[in-house]
Amino acid sequence: MTHPALAAVDAASGRPRRAIERDIWRAGLEAGLGEARDLPLDAHMHTFRSPDAEPDALLDAYCGVALERGIAELAITDHVDFDPLAPAYAFSTFEERQRDVREAAERWAPAGLAVRFGVEVTYERRYEEDIRDWLRRHPHDFVIGSVHSGPASLYEPERVGAFVAGKSLAEVTAPYFDEVVAAARSGLFDSLGHLDVVKRWLVPHVMPEAFAAQPELYEPPLAALVDSGTALEINTSGLRQLARETYPAAAVVARYLALGGRAVTIGSDVHRMEWFAYGLGEAYRLARSAGLAALSFRRGGDRVWVPMGSASGSGVGTGAPGPNTGDPASL
Ligand SMILES: [Zn+2]
Ligand SMILES: [Zn+2]
Repeated sequence: MTHPALAAVDAASGRPRRAIERDIWRAGLEAGLGEARDLPLDAHMHTFRSPDAEPDALLDAYCGVALERGIAELAITDHVDFDPLAPAYAFSTFEERQRDVREAAERWAPAGLAVRFGVEVTYERRYEEDIRDWLRRHPHDFVIGSVHSGPASLYEPERVGAFVAGKSLAEVTAPYFDEVVAAARSGLFDSLGHLDVVKRWLVPHVMPEAFAAQPELYEPPLAALVDSGTALEINTSGLRQLARETYPAAAVVARYLALGGRAVTIGSDVHRMEWFAYGLGEAYRLARSAGLAALSFRRGGDRVWVPMGSASGSGVGTGAPGPNTGDPASL
């Protein structure tokens, strides 16, 4: 089956992926993916303190729109990398990030908006001890661990074609999912970011449909999340990218719950103003139809459960959420 937006992907002449993804984003806007409002939380957001964010990715701009739209709580999770060759290695300091977010939190709290100081750490097994030590010395409200495609990665566009040639999907995804399993089992993270973003890197060599056809590939990462208590993130950036579905898709979320997983977070992974809350409503619908009533989150201290509210969004105001704790099923 031909993936509609990808007829234009030509590995040789190369219509830029960015341009294709922009078309996917626009089509999503027309379908209403930009309309999210009256939601309690976006738990994955980047500002200009991340190297891959746009200069317009400003905290106050996000906060203003969040207030207008009734999105009650934001976690700012700029990138921190540990590989000296990776883009977010020493791109911004802990102190800069913390000051920006804490000051914004103070400015916006009186209006009823909660802003939390988070981070998205790029996990690599070889840096696990460095990450553990750093996180111990640099406390955040909320910590996402993600596996990314770094400068030497097999999944970089110039290498991925040769890497996948002649391999099964299990072989192609092993280097990625092995790191994801280790990230979850490290116990370092509140949430595992974009569980299967490898779908994006593999297009057009392997299409997202191939992942849906091999659900067994997800068993080790899902088991690692359940065993470690690490939350599964529903990341909506896939809806504006080549994968054209959330990371992960609904069936994977359902399987996680069937395995006994309870902790789910939702994040837009915004990197520029026009992506604000993109697809967030879709992710909430997905979580509700999977039977979830609350999201897993942390505001410093212990895990809290954030009620998702009703399908219309009513019942969740813009007031600062209280410290809800307990089991998500009971909320
Ligand atoms: Zn990421
Ligand atoms: Zn991110």
